Amino acid sequence: MQPRILQIQQSVLSKNDELARGLRDRFTAAGVTTINVVSSPGSGKTLLLTKTIERLVARGYRVATLVGDLATDNDARRLAEAGAPVRQIVTGGNCHLEAHMIEEYLGDWDLKDYDFLFIENVGNLVCPSSYDLGEDFRIVILSVTEGEDKPLKYPPMFNSADLAVITKIDIAEAVEFNRDAAHASIQSVRPGMTILEVSAKTGEGVDVWVDTLIKRHEGT
Ligand code: MG
Ligand code: ZN
Repeated sequence: MQPRILQIQQSVLSKNDELARGLRDRFTAAGVTTINVVSSPGSGKTLLLTKTIERLVARGYRVATLVGDLATDNDARRLAEAGAPVRQIVTGGNCHLEAHMIEEYLGDWDLKDYDFLFIENVGNLVCPSSYDLGEDFRIVILSVTEGEDKPLKYPPMFNSADLAVITKIDIAEAVEFNRDAAHASIQSVRPGMTILEVSAKTGEGVDVWVDTLIKRHEGT
């Protein structure tokens, strides 16, 4: 017999998976590309998303964002400056987003009005890996300040992602970032995964990243 705690966890997860399936069907029917962005705290997720949204909006795409945070709405306020609707999910201490939160916070948004829905997950590389939010793509972000072996320490998160983005490459040299080691760690956990390198601050790599998103949206 399984320990009770494990049984409970499995039933919570299967309930989440069921809701996530429903969300995925809604996203597909509406033609909105949904992107779940996961990382450690302080990886530069919010800044990258802000720059990404600005560029997508400038190119005529319609974007909405849900952002999860433990306690504050600082990130939501920063993201709103990019010129697209944002809703904050304050999780009240919950260290990950779950499908029911996405369903609740989508509220009255008509998904047909959007091309992209970004979900900025809570900064955490552990449990967000277990919670499907109905997304089309899961993006894992790693900054050059974090240590090249991070993917080896959090394999489920890197293994469940579709694409990895290395951020803050403008300071890579200053922090003695070992690019080859970082790429090797990612590839050992998720062989063949596409890895992009960006600096939201200088703009380096951001167009390639935005083009990648647009190609995925267009299904090419
Ligand atoms: Mg953030
Ligand atoms: Zn959690």
